[in-house]
Amino acid sequence: MTDPALYPCFLGPYAENDDLLESLVVGFLRDHAYWRRNLHPEDAPAIPTGANRRPDYIAFESRMRRELHALSAALKRSVPFHSPRYIGHMVSDLLIPGLAAQMLALPYNPNNVTAEAAPVTIDLELKVGLQLAAMVGFVADPARADCAFGHLTSGGTLANVQGLRLALAMKAFPVALRSAAAPIDGLPADDWQAFNLSHAETIALLDRWRAALATMPQHERAHWRSRVEAERVEALGLHAFILRHPALKPPVVFAPSTAHYSWSKGMKLLGLGRDQLRLIPGRAMRLDIDALQAGLDDCLRQRQPVLMAVGVLGSTEFGTIDPVDGIVAARRRMQPQGLDFAIHVDAAWGGYLCTLFRAEDSHLRAIEDIGREFADFPTPAVHSAVAALADVDSITIDPHKLGYLPYGSGAFVCRDQRAVELLTESADYVFSDDGATDFFARHRQIGRYVPEGSKPGANAAAVYVTHRTLPLDHAHFGRLQAQSIRSTEAFAAEAEAFIARNAGRVRACVPFAPDSNLVCLAINPVANGDPLRMNTFIRTLHRRLSADPGKPLQLGEYFGSLTTLKPESLGPVETQRTLECLGFADDALRPGEDDADRVVVLRHTLMHPFLLDDGNGRSYLAGYFEFLDRLLTGLLDEQTRDEQARDG
Ligand SMILES: *Cc1c(COP(=O)(O)O)cnc(C)c1O
Repeated sequence: MTDPALYPCFLGPYAENDDLLESLVVGFLRDHAYWRRNLHPEDAPAIPTGANRRPDYIAFESRMRRELHALSAALKRSVPFHSPRYIGHMVSDLLIPGLAAQMLALPYNPNNVTAEAAPVTIDLELKVGLQLAAMVGFVADPARADCAFGHLTSGGTLANVQGLRLALAMKAFPVALRSAAAPIDGLPADDWQAFNLSHAETIALLDRWRAALATMPQHERAHWRSRVEAERVEALGLHAFILRHPALKPPVVFAPSTAHYSWSKGMKLLGLGRDQLRLIPGRAMRLDIDALQAGLDDCLRQRQPVLMAVGVLGSTEFGTIDPVDGIVAARRRMQPQGLDFAIHVDAAWGGYLCTLFRAEDSHLRAIEDIGREFADFPTPAVHSAVAALADVDSITIDPHKLGYLPYGSGAFVCRDQRAVELLTESADYVFSDDGATDFFARHRQIGRYVPEGSKPGANAAAVYVTHRTLPLDHAHFGRLQAQSIRSTEAFAAEAEAFIARNAGRVRACVPFAPDSNLVCLAINPVANGDPLRMNTFIRTLHRRLSADPGKPLQLGEYFGSLTTLKPESLGPVETQRTLECLGFADDALRPGEDDADRVVVLRHTLMHPFLLDDGNGRSYLAGYFEFLDRLLTGLLDEQTRDEQARDG
């Protein structure tokens, strides 16, 4: 049931590919040593040949070895992400090409803040940006002016922050041009209009501004440049900017109620304030597009500027996919009425699922073609959401999640490279302004755009080599994503059997159909009418599905995670359905009462490539549900004993 194409990809649950990884690591470590040695072989060694016989050398080595052994021993208590028994959080085994490339690059220590410190890996990072751009359907031809641009970040959190930064820069720049009375044609008539220019209009304005500056004499150019700079929100700060433009209130951001908490962090970090983050209720854990439309209508009526609408492609807790096409359509409806906003898709989790939707020539595959391999995937809604990505302004994608790469690699991709100039921090001691026209030459000083400063070039190498080894289309990287979808479908079938065979003792259900490779399972002991009691029951169950750092790892049989369903994300219809299938009264949830206002459920991330392997006479998924059977038996017996003890 495991696609044999995946056999060489991972070190493997049993470290099956240890010889392969070892030969790569040792080979390239030696290669690195020769590189050092061959820089100037005529230089005498700085560390004398006999240094390792000195007492202080030996003492140092002993201390280091002792510490490394202690570390290695301690790390044995790590969570076993590599095992198909681990179906908890969004992490699994690592792809060998990425792991090897990262280890290979590490001793060269490239710093992807500037090409001067990373002559090789900066270009790899820019190429990764183009690879990801092609994967989501953006223009990825560096010869084109409207080519996308992407870069790596430490993770999805910072990529989301970058999305907010870019949106604010784009929205506020036309306002600054107007208020500086920049000498160009076609300036918007008032501040409201300036803030509500479309993405394309702002790009066109930027182009005109650049062209105007280019034709000015040197001193005039300097004058106008600093005059406009002084009016920008980046110079004034949001408070002074709003004071200067009373028609503009602090802008709001719409995001689904399932949005990752990085959005709240980002709003605080940029000084926009968490109050300006408007969470839109959901239906079955997906953004309710009617509620978004109502919110937008309301903003238009009240002349409330909207900075951005966020759609999530693969929510962190539920793997659900928002109607990105609906968000794009809502913007299209609002634009003629004078309200415009940026659209960012948070695909930190689901980004790599797009590989399933890409043909090798990078065209979007038809839903029938994709669906041939699966029972229910993709739903028409999911296909439409992915198809609409080409129309959004920026996207977050985490290589360290469904890209199966080591931590420290998120990515931000924006649709049009011409926008990012607005993010530059002119720190002239680091960067030279050579006005380059070549895509790579122009963007090599990546530190000008990114939130970070120094950043690891080794990560860029890892992502690049992985994307080259497994191109981002359905025939390559997509095989990995396909495996996770097949695992999800198998999981759903196992869950159904579990629900049926345990019907005498628990009421259980999959509370909403998964869009991708995350499945939740709600379980309530029969005859229990109190959600608080159910939630306590699930938390106890979950503790037995967690690695206990105080106990040998081998005592843990399977590893899961837990999340909560809230009525505002589930929506009234799905909430009723879920309560009914769990045997609760319609009004069983008690709003405002801690933990009695929600449904705690088991959450399973089904990304491990070998979940369907039956090394133990049955698949790991079947094994998991058998384990759940046993856990239930133990837990329900304990409860009965406790109750008898209390009563008697
Ligand atoms: C994981 C995740 C994030 C945050 O990404 P980090 O890499 O953990 O910083 C943001 N959004 C979504 C949807 C995520 O799943």
